[in-house]
Amino acid sequence: MKGPEWKYVVIVEEKEKGNPRVQCCFCDKVYVGGSARIREHLHGEQNTVIKQCDKVPEEVVDEIRKLVQEKKEVKMKKRKLEALDKATSSAVSKPQWPTLPSLIKNEKAVDESVPWLEHFIVQLLTTVISS
Ligand SMILES: [Zn+2]
Repeated sequence: MKGPEWKYVVIVEEKEKGNPRVQCCFCDKVYVGGSARIREHLHGEQNTVIKQCDKVPEEVVDEIRKLVQEKKEVKMKKRKLEALDKATSSAVSKPQWPTLPSLIKNEKAVDESVPWLEHFIVQLLTTVISS
């Protein structure tokens, strides 16, 4: 899938392996490159092998900058989600809380003890009253 940066180049020579030879639509520079290289040429970020285009219109620079920014954000979000996934899955694997069945069991035990307790109190009270 080719991104919008490909609108601004003409493929001069398609290669079987690796990136094609492309020509910039603005300055006619011919270079070998894929999407990243084309974006670099257009928006002129530092530490790139390729020189920034000196004829690219400002709105295209903006468009490509936004595109690069979006790509960075998507990558960061993905990393955050992966970190979150790891954190939650490791928390789940630690058994700390009682399970629902065990809670229900305990509640039943309390319920069953109540009639006996009532009976005991009634007996106690009758004893106290009658004495
Ligand atoms: Zn150019």
